[in-house]
Amino acid sequence: MSVFSPVEMAPRDPILGLNEAYNADTRASKVNLGVGVYYDENGKVPLLRAVEAAEQARVAEHAPRAYLPIEGLAAYDQAVQKLLFGQDSPLLTANRLITAQSLGGTGALKLGADFLYRQTGKRLVAISNPSWENHRALFEAAGYEVVEYPYYHPATNGLDLDGMLKSIEALPEGSVVLLHACCHNPTGVDLSLTDWAKVIDVVQRRNHVPFLDIAYQGFGENLQDDAMAVRLFAESGLAFLVASSFSKSFSLYGERVGALTLVTANSEETAPVLSQLKRVIRTNYSNPPTHGAQVVAKVLTNPELYSLWEQELAEMRVRIKAMRQALVEKLQAAGVTQDMSFIQRQRGMFSYSGLTKIQVERLASEFGIYAVGSGRICVAALNQSNIEHVANAVATVLQ
Ligand code: PMP
Repeated sequence: MSVFSPVEMAPRDPILGLNEAYNADTRASKVNLGVGVYYDENGKVPLLRAVEAAEQARVAEHAPRAYLPIEGLAAYDQAVQKLLFGQDSPLLTANRLITAQSLGGTGALKLGADFLYRQTGKRLVAISNPSWENHRALFEAAGYEVVEYPYYHPATNGLDLDGMLKSIEALPEGSVVLLHACCHNPTGVDLSLTDWAKVIDVVQRRNHVPFLDIAYQGFGENLQDDAMAVRLFAESGLAFLVASSFSKSFSLYGERVGALTLVTANSEETAPVLSQLKRVIRTNYSNPPTHGAQVVAKVLTNPELYSLWEQELAEMRVRIKAMRQALVEKLQAAGVTQDMSFIQRQRGMFSYSGLTKIQVERLASEFGIYAVGSGRICVAALNQSNIEHVANAVATVLQ
């Protein structure tokens, strides 16, 4: 009898299982559309030129690796704020912003969840139906009850705005409401500016706590437009939280570069909130790692590297959009009669394709094409070499 003998197997992670099945498949034409990663035209995770240049400069400095402050690198935290709120935002000088470097977007969400739980007594969070699968698990692990608000409307392959607003209205006053700021994962369906205004109105009236998750800034339209939800919340004067991830936009997945930003309601709140957030960090991992944040800060604060990064981000975005268009055209050419144009309206790396679980299983067994059971496909994993095969296979299973 050991201390570990009562431990039972955890349920299998569905996406990891998908990767295992993909790796074990011996067909040369196999395609993994289950991933949450941007692949370039050659099927590789790119190393951005802006990142490479910043890394070379950092190596050349021979900088010692001392501890960072608890809340991370100051230059990084300030650059994150500018990216979220815009260079000219009055918030930048209002002493209402607290940004802490975090271990990716996931780390930012966990810090925010722990902070709200410990310091404000929050116990209920509402997430979209569907949402990134880790949202529920992460908040449950942090002690919350997790409920869902309607989001995706299968009949239109679009947004169920009415359902979303009604459900947020009906939540107990002061609930935490998790919102995807842009490029919703897994559906690719986003809110318009007028939709956001309505959400802000109900959140404000019900005294809810908005928690914005922005993991794909730059993958929708551009860096500015993709931050519009964050900026509208900023204009509303509400206190709220933002979890940023640079995993995708800098192609720095493994470096774990993210940030949690808290916008306080007034400058008096800022010092106590920062002091308590630092305790959450200190008791979890003490302080964050140096490399990824140094690289991102260098790119964001150097005008030449910044414009190179913007250009590379645009290349990724344009390639994904081209793949969306090509997929719709090739599906049509392969004889699909349903209107698949919603794939082109969706934004970011993913598409909720409308494929059923059985159709997804057929894609894997008959064609070696792996997608998530919900029908989510990663459009960023398509390229000129595999798209024909994917379109023909999808057309076959749709018949
Ligand atoms: N939020 C959403 C919506 C995501 O899709 C992801 C990553 N797939 C994250 C947060 C977490 O990002 P990171 O890998 O930086 O932890």
